[in-house]
Amino acid sequence: MDNEKIYFDYNATTPIDPRVLEEMAKVGRENFGNPSSSHYLGRRAAEIVKQARQQVAAVLNAEPEEICFTSGGTESDNLVLKGIVLPYLLKGHKPHVIVSAVEHPAVAESCRYLENLGAVITYLPVLEDGTLAVSQVADALDDETVLVSLMLANNETGVLFPLAEIAALTRSRGILLHTDAVQAFGKVKIDVKVLGVDLLSLSGHKVYAPKGVGALWIRPGIELEPLLHGGGQEGGLRSGTENLAGMAGFGVACQILTAGMIEEGLRIQQLRDHLESQLATALDQQLVFHGHRQLRVPNTISLSVPYIDGEALLAHLDLEDIAVSAGSACSSGEHQGSPVLRAMGVGSELAQGSLRISLGRWSTRAEVDIFVEKFTVIVRRLWAISPLYPQK
Ligand code: PLP
Repeated sequence: MDNEKIYFDYNATTPIDPRVLEEMAKVGRENFGNPSSSHYLGRRAAEIVKQARQQVAAVLNAEPEEICFTSGGTESDNLVLKGIVLPYLLKGHKPHVIVSAVEHPAVAESCRYLENLGAVITYLPVLEDGTLAVSQVADALDDETVLVSLMLANNETGVLFPLAEIAALTRSRGILLHTDAVQAFGKVKIDVKVLGVDLLSLSGHKVYAPKGVGALWIRPGIELEPLLHGGGQEGGLRSGTENLAGMAGFGVACQILTAGMIEEGLRIQQLRDHLESQLATALDQQLVFHGHRQLRVPNTISLSVPYIDGEALLAHLDLEDIAVSAGSACSSGEHQGSPVLRAMGVGSELAQGSLRISLGRWSTRAEVDIFVEKFTVIVRRLWAISPLYPQK
């Protein structure tokens, strides 16, 4: 990464790995074929898609034919929610869907759309530490439930939901279970044969592949209504001429994960834990850390700085060329703070002062140390001028 700049916003997006970029450039240079063409160029292009599909399947311990390439996490989530629920609505049923209160907008907004069309949606609350009680899911299931959709890891806190336990429950009731694994993928090992879910969404740009490519893993035998109709690519589920370079890049990104994800996760976790403890000490234990301490992905820190607005803090960090993310979001003009933290019962003042710090492949110990130093100076400066901070 850039020498002076610090990028600690890997959950927003990741830089493209040079090995991925090299593969994409090679495909772009050497093969512009359309995989549907029957001549030699088309056949070579189809080979590239086939290999990418194998690489994506391999990292999940899935079969290649179970992978449907999409444009990313948003499309994969939309395809599941609408692809499962719309056929019921078209037949005049009132299907019931269960999601959590902290899902990404790709799921939450799809639910609102379906709700307007007559679907019944249950938004499950989360616990204070951001986890989800399996009993809540059990209690919410009813005879009309056709789908449960729960994220594997939360984008803001990194907290993991107990999908394997929930899968045992939904399976016994014959109800489909989807997981948005966009933020868990590449950070924790995912084996679809062990996890037990039925559908799983992935995005390329969170795992060092480019933006605009992703995938949906679909357990064999599950029928989905396509969102895009046309030439019948991706087994008829996702028409449109294939994003050849994107798929090839995503394939290589998955191959890199297959080879080294565990070691990378351990290294990043050590950095993250070091950063967390250094920050806590440097600011006299006044920071508030959010989310379950163990049940979370290894790269994410969600914290609040009391008496300070997250957006103001973000702007000051930005002036120092440090990129992180404010967990806050404004809705209808009213600044309430991060909806995810609010759902965890965090008060609006603390939720407004929240920050997400997310590390990744090129994060270093030196960056962590510089970050702690600059962050501490900025926070102390903001506290000194804050009318709310109890001045000595
Ligand atoms: N789901 C989660 C949990 C995410 O964090 C994101 C992206 O931030 C998405 C879905 C959307 O993925 P994409 O940007 O590939 O559409």
